[in-house]
Amino acid sequence: MQDLGGKPVIVRTYDATKATNLFDEVYVVTDSDIIFNEIEMNGGKAIMSKKEHECGSDRIAEAVENMDVDIVVNVQGDEPFTSREGLEKVLAVFNEPDAEKIDLASLMTEIHDWKEISDPNCVKVIVDKDNFALYFSRSPIPFPRDKNVGVQYYKHKGIYAFRKQAILDFYRLPMRSLEATEKIECIRYLEYGKNIKMAVSNTIGVEIDTPEDLVKANKILNENKPDAVNHKFRNFPMVPKVVFGEGCFDQLSTILATQKQDKAPFIFLVDDVFKENTELVDRIPLRFNDKLIFISAEEEPKTSQVDNLVNEIKKEFTQIPSGIIGIGGGTVMDLAKAVSIMLINNGSAADYQGWDLVRQKAVYHVGIPTISGTGAEVSRTTVLTGPERKLGINSDFTPFDQVILDPNLTRGVSKNQWFFTGMDCFIHCVESLNGTFLNAFSQSYGEKAYDLCMEIFLDDSLSEEESRAKLMMASWHGGMSIAYSQVGVAHAMSYGLGYVLGTKHGVGNCIVFQYLDEFYPKDVLLFKKMVAKHNVEIPQNICKNLSEEQMDTMVTVAMGMVPLWENALGSNWETIITRDKLKELYLKM
Ligand code: NAD
Ligand code: ZN
Repeated sequence: MQDLGGKPVIVRTYDATKATNLFDEVYVVTDSDIIFNEIEMNGGKAIMSKKEHECGSDRIAEAVENMDVDIVVNVQGDEPFTSREGLEKVLAVFNEPDAEKIDLASLMTEIHDWKEISDPNCVKVIVDKDNFALYFSRSPIPFPRDKNVGVQYYKHKGIYAFRKQAILDFYRLPMRSLEATEKIECIRYLEYGKNIKMAVSNTIGVEIDTPEDLVKANKILNENKPDAVNHKFRNFPMVPKVVFGEGCFDQLSTILATQKQDKAPFIFLVDDVFKENTELVDRIPLRFNDKLIFISAEEEPKTSQVDNLVNEIKKEFTQIPSGIIGIGGGTVMDLAKAVSIMLINNGSAADYQGWDLVRQKAVYHVGIPTISGTGAEVSRTTVLTGPERKLGINSDFTPFDQVILDPNLTRGVSKNQWFFTGMDCFIHCVESLNGTFLNAFSQSYGEKAYDLCMEIFLDDSLSEEESRAKLMMASWHGGMSIAYSQVGVAHAMSYGLGYVLGTKHGVGNCIVFQYLDEFYPKDVLLFKKMVAKHNVEIPQNICKNLSEEQMDTMVTVAMGMVPLWENALGSNWETIITRDKLKELYLKM
C-alpha cells in the first residue's frame, strides 16, 4: 500500500499488468481487506484468499483451483514496472518445440556487478543448455574460483507462468529442506523434479523489497515520465569525429586503418542503388576478409532485418568485426547503427526499441550519407519497425564514432527523392522550432538548418555544388536540433502511415505536412511554395481505401507517439488530439 508516484504499489502493479494486454483476466489475490478494497475501488478485480498461505504461489493455487484456465502467470505485487516485454517472453516459451516438457516458466536478467552477484537479496539462477533451471541460490552460483572467468551471471526475476496442474501440484507438495534453507519458492519444484524453463529479459525493473527500493522506484517513475526524457538536462553524446568536403570519401581507408583489430573484418553495408555504380564501389577500401553487403532501401528498416544481418555476420566470422561502415541514406545509416549495437548486445533489436535500454558499447561504426536530410548521420537514434511498434533504439551507444560528409556522394539522387529527404530536414526544424521542448541549444541548430533549407529550396542563387554541400550541413544541424527537443505532429502521423501502409519516411512526412496548416500555418504555406517551385508530385488519396481496422491501427500508432505530441502541443495535448480528429485528418490524405 506504500505510495509510488501517487498510487499504491499494488495498484501500479495491477495497472501495469493489465496494460500489457496479454491476459484474458487479471486479478489481485490477497488476504488483506485493505488491498482488496483498494483494487475494487480502482475498478480492478480482486479475490480474497485464506490467511494462512506460505507463499504467493499457494495463494494463487487456491484462487485458480476452480477456474477454467490453461496458464496462470504469477506477477508479484511488488513489481510495478512489470513490462509487456518480460511477460511476453515468459509466455512465449509455451509455444516452443519443447513446451510439453515445461511445468512452469520464469524470467532471468543478466547481471554484471559483483556487488549484485554476491548480494543474498539477489537470487541467482543457473541453467542447462536449453535454459532449464538447474538451481536457484542466494549464493553466487557458479562460484568463480578464478575471479576473471567470463561466465554470465543471471538474476532470477519473480515472475512465473504455470500450467494449471503445476501450480496445483505445488500447493499440495510439502516444503523440503533446500527451499526452507534458501527461502526461495521455486526450489520446491526442482526438489520434486519439475522442469522450469527460464527466459532472458534484460529490461531494467525494480522490485520493491526495502524502503530504499521504494525511493529508487519513485525516482525511476519520475525519469520515465515521457516528458522527463526531454526536460532533464541531457548529457548526450555527439559524433566525436567528422570529416567534410568534396572527395573526402577517399580518406576512408586511412581512417579505418587505425581501427583495424587483428584479423577482424570491416563490414560495409552499402545501399544497393550503388550495385551498378562501379565508380563508387571501386573506391570502397575492401581489404583481407572485409565484407560488403548490399542493402535495399526499398522498405523501412526492420528489427528482424537487423537480427538477420547480425546472424549472418556472426555465422561467417568467429571474431566480432573491427567496424561497421554504413554507406547510403537514412535507411542504411539506421541499419549500420543498429547492427553495430546488436553485434554486442544479446537478444533481438526489438528488445532495445525505446530510450536507454542498450547496456554495452557498440562495435566501432562509421556513417557515410549519400543523400541528405534525415540527420540520421548525427542523431542518437536508429528508427526501426518492430513486431510491436515503430520506434528508435535511442541510446548513448547509438551515434556513429565517425562520420564522413562528402557532398559528391549525393550527386545521383533523383529530384523527387532529393526533395522528400530534404523536406525531412525542413519539417524537423519546423517541429523543433515550434515545439514546447525548445531551448536555446536546439534553437540555434534548428534555426541554422531552417535558414539553409530556405536558401536551398526557395532561392535561385546557389550552384549545384553549393546546394549539395549546404543540404548536407542542414541535415547535420537539423539532426542536432532534434537531439535536444523532439519532432511533432507530422512525424507522429507519418509513423502511422509508415506502420500501416509502409509509406517511406520522407514522402510520408510530405503527404502529411500539406494538411497541417492549423498547427504550422506559416510553414505549410512555405512548404507548398517549395512543392510548386520544384514541381514535385506528392501522392494523394492514399488513405481512401483503408479498412476500419487499418484506420484504427494508424490512429493508435500515431496517438502512441506521446513525446511528439507533448512537444507539439504541450502536456494537455489529449484535449486537442482525439481519435476522431486524427481520422478526419488521415481521410484528407
Ligand atoms: P533512404 O535511405 O530510404 O533512401 C531513399 C532512396 O534514395 C533509396 O531508394 C536509395 O536507394 C536512394 N539513394 C540514396 N542515396 C542515393 C544516391 N547517392 N544516388 C541515388 N539514389 C540514392 O532515404 P532517407 O530519406 O535518407 O532515409 C529515410 C530513413 O531514415 C527512414 O527509414 C527514417 O525512419 C530514417 N530516419 C532516421 C532518423 C534518425 O535520426 N535515425 C531521422 C530521420 C529519418
Ligand atoms: Zn524525420
